[in-house]
Amino acid sequence: MQSEKKTYVTRPLMPPLEAFIPYLEQIWDNQQLTNNGPCHQQLEEALADYLGVEHLCLFSNGTMALLTALQALRVTGEVITTPYSFVATAHSLLWNGLTPVFVDTEPGGFNLDAEQIEQAITSHTTAIMPVHCYGLPCNTARIQQIADLYGLKVIYDAAHAFGVRQQGRSVLLEGDLSVLSFHATKVFNTIEGGAIICHDASMKRRIDLLKNFGIADENTVVAAGINGKMNELQAAWGLLQLQHIDSAIEQRTALYTQFRQGLEGIDGITLPSVPEGLGWNYAYFPVVVEDNYPLTRDELFDALVARNIIPRRYFYPLITSFHMYRHARGAEPEALPNAHFVADRVICLPFYPGLESGVVSKIVNIVAGQARPA
Ligand SMILES: *Cc1c(COP(=O)(O)O)cnc(C)c1O
Repeated sequence: MQSEKKTYVTRPLMPPLEAFIPYLEQIWDNQQLTNNGPCHQQLEEALADYLGVEHLCLFSNGTMALLTALQALRVTGEVITTPYSFVATAHSLLWNGLTPVFVDTEPGGFNLDAEQIEQAITSHTTAIMPVHCYGLPCNTARIQQIADLYGLKVIYDAAHAFGVRQQGRSVLLEGDLSVLSFHATKVFNTIEGGAIICHDASMKRRIDLLKNFGIADENTVVAAGINGKMNELQAAWGLLQLQHIDSAIEQRTALYTQFRQGLEGIDGITLPSVPEGLGWNYAYFPVVVEDNYPLTRDELFDALVARNIIPRRYFYPLITSFHMYRHARGAEPEALPNAHFVADRVICLPFYPGLESGVVSKIVNIVAGQARPA
């Protein structure tokens, strides 16, 4: 008997191979592989246009973009951030010699609780680094109000928020800087890659300097920069992705509807709550396995894996559970009840363009079947 194929939580957006050939030919013609080549320039323009932002700086990956964003704003001392994220969010602080201070997530949500930020501010606090988890926007208005009141910078880890709009306006325009990731697992990918979105030309110039060793011209180095440059092959791959992104997000929307219809009304399964009027990117399909569901989250995880469905526990364990953060301020489990609640109960179901509707039905049947045994 042939063994059944496994279905993973995500699969990269892979445009047709032959469509990439003309881009490769162009690179071979130009003989420029990196250092702000023609594909890099085109992708910066095309992405800024697509995302509805003015200034965008490409990077070799999202983590390098996070590291550079903190340098660009000259952030020092303590930075308030969330425990419920991919570990790169907090790592970018440690790599800059900064002190992470953790604040709990919203009750019943996944993002940093804006109402708990103020109590974590000290005379050493200089910035807030929230995450638009799953591409669902933070309470950006409240966060900005607090930042303005205390004179803090705001850097959004917007790794999940490609293309997300609130009332028609890009969420990437919020805060001082926003950072995207174009890793292969994300909605839009350049294999590895990322970007910083900023608000003016002089900040773009500073970021562009920092990502290229701080080199201003042949004879002048003006800052201790790093190598964060995206190369021409990555940029070309991005230009090709961009042609397929609308159809990819449409497919995600259809999958979302199918999952929603199938899973709605199951006791103990809470579906993502998407605010009215949000132009979401349908980046993930997180469900919360509540205590009145017959199985624990981990038992449901195992039941899915036994049927060749491989979901992910994004984000478990919490960042504050890792040894390098365990003793940070705000990391005590008692201080983070909401984050621990979701980290212990969330499961991200397989969700990507090309996921067959038959597989969605199979997943729905497994989740529903545990709750309504025949
Ligand atoms: C993917 C991701 C990153 C890191 O991006 P890379 O491009 O993989 O370096 C940072 N933060 C969050 C929330 C992510 O999901």
